[in-house]
Amino acid sequence: MAITSLLSALSRRLEGKVALITGGASGIGKRTAEVFAHHGAKLVIADIQDELGHSVCQSIGAQNDVTYVHCDVTDESQVKAAVEKAVKAYGRLDIMFNNAGVPNECKPRIIDNDKADFERVLRVNITGVFLGIKHAAQAMIPARGGSIISTASVSSCAGGIASHAYTCSKHAVVGLTRNAAVELGQFGIRVNCLSPYGVATPFGREFIGLGDDELEGLFGSFANLKGVTLKAEDVANAALFLACEEGRYVSGHNLVVDGGVTIVNPSFG
Ligand code: NAD
Repeated sequence: MAITSLLSALSRRLEGKVALITGGASGIGKRTAEVFAHHGAKLVIADIQDELGHSVCQSIGAQNDVTYVHCDVTDESQVKAAVEKAVKAYGRLDIMFNNAGVPNECKPRIIDNDKADFERVLRVNITGVFLGIKHAAQAMIPARGGSIISTASVSSCAGGIASHAYTCSKHAVVGLTRNAAVELGQFGIRVNCLSPYGVATPFGREFIGLGDDELEGLFGSFANLKGVTLKAEDVANAALFLACEEGRYVSGHNLVVDGGVTIVNPSFG
């Protein structure tokens, strides 16, 4: 292969691919949209924050095919419509990134936790992922291939880091990923999830109530990998690996992006 073609293949890993990213208006989803677009993917960004979603499309859109769709991941008809929009706009769906998620206040004592709040977190973080996998699979099965990626969390690996509802929802993302990977492998569809450690995003700010610098300082104080701060881009690059050809034999995997926090720090299990 000529050196120019090789360089182009390395820098355009998703050339010709179509990706749908939920929660793409902010944080990890937004950065992943930028990275995927840089690698040549056509994108549908799905979110409930319409103004932010449109502005992400505008900032990416000059040289790329990118479309925004309002999609509440807890509403099956909206998830189905978002997948249909990707197929209608770009002819196919190769990559589904089920990334939308919400935190809730951590009340350590289970007796203080409220049922409605518990169910709200599960609806977004797990029912939303279930619907994303279901409707992406419907589009990918006839094409006999695709990559489905969902965002879990280090809270999928251990208890006691986050609220009961959040921990439960992220453990469930791993379970759903494994089940779907077993079933969909026969169609050449890979199903994986990602488990990031703390990243300074609006989510983290809401979760813990600190600004970006303070948040990064707090996350850094628990990290055993010193001198490196986890950024949304690092999670986006992990998603890129799972989405592209280099990850073609990886399925049913929970890719933990935590600098080793969960294997070393006893307070993270
Ligand atoms: P963020 O708040 O910046 O982005 C989340 C996006 O999801 C927002 O744009 C929000 O509007 C969207 N969203 C929320 N509810 C939705 C719904 N019902 N339908 C569609 N979109 C919805 O947060 P982030 O940090 O980028 O989080 C992205 C994912 O990463 C989440 O699943 C979160 O659980 C996970 N995560 C985050 C961290 C962290 O420290 N930031 C760590 C581990 C895992």
